[in-house]
Amino acid sequence: MLQVKHLVKRYTTKGETITALADVSVDFPEKGMVFLLGKSGSGKSTLLNVAGGLDSPDEGEVIVKGKSSKDFSKSDFDSYRNTYVGFIFQEYNILNELTVAENVALALELQGRERDEALVEKLLSEVDLKGCGGRRPNTLSGGQKQRVAIARALVKDPEIIMADEPTGALDSATGMQVFDTLKKLSAEKLVVVVSHDRGFAEHYADRIIELADGKIVSDVSRSEGESVYVNLTEGERELTVACGAAITEEETQKVVSFLKRHKESVTLTVGEKTAERSRAVFRATDLPPQPREEESGKFIRSAFPFRYALKMGLSWLKFKPVRLIFTTLLAAVAFIVFGVFSTLVTYSPVKLNASTLDDSAFSTGVLQKKGVVHSINEEGEPYDRNFPASPLSSLHFDARDVARLEEKYPEMDFVPVFSFHLDPLDVGFSMGSEGRGFYYSQMDFFNGFAEVDEIRQKTGFALSEGRWPEVATDSACEVAISRTMFEAFCALGFREETGASVLPISSFADLEGRNIFATVGVTRFCLKVVGVVDTEEDFSVYEYLKTASSATDAETSALRELYRYSFASIGIVAEDFYETYQENDLAPSFYRNEQENLQRDWWARNTTSYEEHPEEGILYSFLYTTLRKNRSARCLTLMKFHRTTDEARDIYYFTPYSFTDEIAAGDRTLSQTVPIVAPIAAALAVFSALLLFNFISASINAKRRDVGVLRAVGARGIDVFKIFMVEGFVLTSLCFLLGCCGSLAVCAVANAVLVGKGILAFGFF
Ligand code: ADP
Ligand code: MG
Repeated sequence: MLQVKHLVKRYTTKGETITALADVSVDFPEKGMVFLLGKSGSGKSTLLNVAGGLDSPDEGEVIVKGKSSKDFSKSDFDSYRNTYVGFIFQEYNILNELTVAENVALALELQGRERDEALVEKLLSEVDLKGCGGRRPNTLSGGQKQRVAIARALVKDPEIIMADEPTGALDSATGMQVFDTLKKLSAEKLVVVVSHDRGFAEHYADRIIELADGKIVSDVSRSEGESVYVNLTEGERELTVACGAAITEEETQKVVSFLKRHKESVTLTVGEKTAERSRAVFRATDLPPQPREEESGKFIRSAFPFRYALKMGLSWLKFKPVRLIFTTLLAAVAFIVFGVFSTLVTYSPVKLNASTLDDSAFSTGVLQKKGVVHSINEEGEPYDRNFPASPLSSLHFDARDVARLEEKYPEMDFVPVFSFHLDPLDVGFSMGSEGRGFYYSQMDFFNGFAEVDEIRQKTGFALSEGRWPEVATDSACEVAISRTMFEAFCALGFREETGASVLPISSFADLEGRNIFATVGVTRFCLKVVGVVDTEEDFSVYEYLKTASSATDAETSALRELYRYSFASIGIVAEDFYETYQENDLAPSFYRNEQENLQRDWWARNTTSYEEHPEEGILYSFLYTTLRKNRSARCLTLMKFHRTTDEARDIYYFTPYSFTDEIAAGDRTLSQTVPIVAPIAAALAVFSALLLFNFISASINAKRRDVGVLRAVGARGIDVFKIFMVEGFVLTSLCFLLGCCGSLAVCAVANAVLVGKGILAFGFF
C-alpha cells in the first residue's frame, strides 16, 4: 500500500545544498515492523517524513494505495496523513493547551468523526494511562507523554504508524515498553520506526533498511524458521547437555573449555531436550518488483473543530502577557485617536445645530431672513432714497415666501412674524418694577407680531382669557398676549404711564381693555389687550429664577433668548393688521410721525454702498413654527436653511439662536484641527496594524512546534490558520472595544469641557 520511488530530497541552507535523500526506493509491506537504521544525518527522518507525507519530495514519488504524490494537491498530503498515518516523534509532541484526552481525541475529530470518549479512555488504559484523560500534559512524565502520543497515533486506527526515534528521550525500560507496544501493533499494521540502535532493531524488526548519506546501503528481512535447538545449558558450576542431542564440533569445544575454566568440582549432567530458541537472522530483502496497485482508498480532508481553534487561539494569546498588554494598549490608543478623528471628519454642523435645537428647551423654531439692499446700485447710481417704500413691507416675510417654503417643506408650517425694527419692542415700562422677581423681568417685550388667523391655523393655540383681537385701526389696535406675559403682569403689576403708580393685576379683568405701550428706540406703539392665549411654552428649566433676585449674565441671556424665540413674546393682532398699515398707511399716529425719522435712522444704520460691501445692507424678519410636533424633522429643516442664500431674491436665511454662532466658532477650530489630526490618525492606524501583525507573527514563530504537531496529526494549513484567526480576531476585538470605549470617553470629556465653556462643538456618532 505504500511505495516510495526514486526519492530525492535536497535542503539548501546558506547557499549550501545537502542531499538528504539520493534516489531512495522502498516498497513497504502491508504490515510488520520496518526499521530505518543509520547514523545521525543519514537521512532517516527525511525518508520517514517524505514517506509519511509531512514533507514533499524534490524528485520521485510516494505512492499511497496506488495514488501517486505527483497527482497530489498540497492539501492531499495533509489528508493522506489525516487518513492513514499515525505519527510518533522522539519529542513526545503533544499539545500543552489541550488535556490528555483532547490530545488523543483531536486526531479522531480531525477525521470528522465524533469524539468517542469510550475509545479514548480504552486507548489510554492500553498505554497504562487509565484515568489520566483530564490531566494537563505538563503534569506528565516523559514516558507518559510518549504514551499519550502513541494513543493519539492509534486512536484513528491508522494503517501506518510512523515513529521517529520514539524512545530517544526515554530510559531503556520504558523504551522497551514502547517497542513492545509497537511490535504488537505491527501484527496488523505497517510500523515504520527510525532508530540508530541496532540492538533494538535486530530484536524487534521484521525488516531493517539501513541508510548512509541519503542512500540505502542495506535492506534485510528476518528469515523465517531460523531457529536452533539449545544443546548446552551452562549454569554457575553445572553444564547440562541435552539428552540425545547431536553435539556439534563447536559445542564439544564449549564443553572442553567449561571444564578447563573450573578448577574445582563441577557437574556435567544430561538433561531433557530443550526448547528451540530463535536467533536473529536477517537475509537480504528479496521482493519481486511489485506491480502498481489499483487506486483505492479515499483521503479524508481534515475537519478541525472550532472548539480547539478557540481554545488554542486563546491560550496562544496568553503566551506573552506583557507583549499582549502592550500591544493591546497601544493599538487601543491608535483606535481612540482614529475614532476621535473620524468623529471630526463625519461631523456635520447642520446635524449638530439640529440636534442641539432638538435637545434644547426651545419649543419654537425660528427662521429669520435678511434681505440685501444697497444704497448704491451696480452702476454707481443711488437707489431711490425712499426705498424701502415702507419699512414694514421689507421687514415682512410675505405670503409668497411662506407659500413657497411650505410647499417645499410640507412638514413645516410657518407663522410670519413681523417686527417694526430689529430690536424687540419693549413693554417693560408698562409693567411694574417694584420688587421685581428676576424671572418675570425678562418677559417684558414683544419680539414681533403675528396675525390671529395664522396663529389659529398653524399652532392650534387656545384662548385662555378674553377674546381674539378683531380690530386693527389706528385708534384701536387690539392684541392678545401670551399667558407667560400675562403672568409677568400679574407678578409685576401694571403701569399706565411712566411714573404712574403700579396697579396690581390679579385676574384678567384687571388688565382687559388697558393699553400697553411698547417702545423701540424713539418709537412708541399702543396696543389694547383683549385676550390671553396659551402659547404652550415651557420655561420650567429656569423656574428656579422665579425666586432669585438676580442671575448670571449667561442665565439672563439664556432666559431672554428662550422667551424671545418663543410664541410667548409674540403679540397676536387682528387679521388685517399688516395690510392696513401697509396699504393705507394707517400706522398709529405716533408711528407715522416717527416714520421719517425711523427710516432715516434705519437707512443710516443698515445700508451701505455697493462698492464697499456688495453683500451688505440688512432687513430682518421672522418665521415662527411650533416644535411641539415633528420636532426632530422640523429642527433639521430649519437648520438646513441656516446660512443659505436665495440668490434670485437676494435673501439670506438664518436661524437666530446664539448657539449656532458658537457651533460655527467650533467649525473653524475643527477645520484647523483636521489637517493636523488626519496624518497623526493615519500614522497611528498604520502603526497599530503593524503592532497587531507583529504580535501575530511573533506568536506564529513561537508556536512552530505546535503547528508542526498539528500538521503531523493531519491538520491542514487552513486549520492552523483558524487558530491564528481566533487569536487575531480576539486581539483586534479587544483593541476595538477599548478603542470605542476610549473614543466615547474622550468625546464625552471633550463635550463636557466644551459645553462647560459654552461651546457645543462635538457630537459623537
Ligand atoms: P537523520 O534523521 O538520519 O539523523 P535527517 O533525515 O534528519 O537525518 O537529515 C538528513 C540530512 O538532511 C542532514 O544532513 C540534515 O542536516 C539535513 N536536513 C534535514 N532536515 C533539514 C532541514 N529542514 N533543513 C536543512 N537541512 C536538513
Ligand atoms: Mg532524525
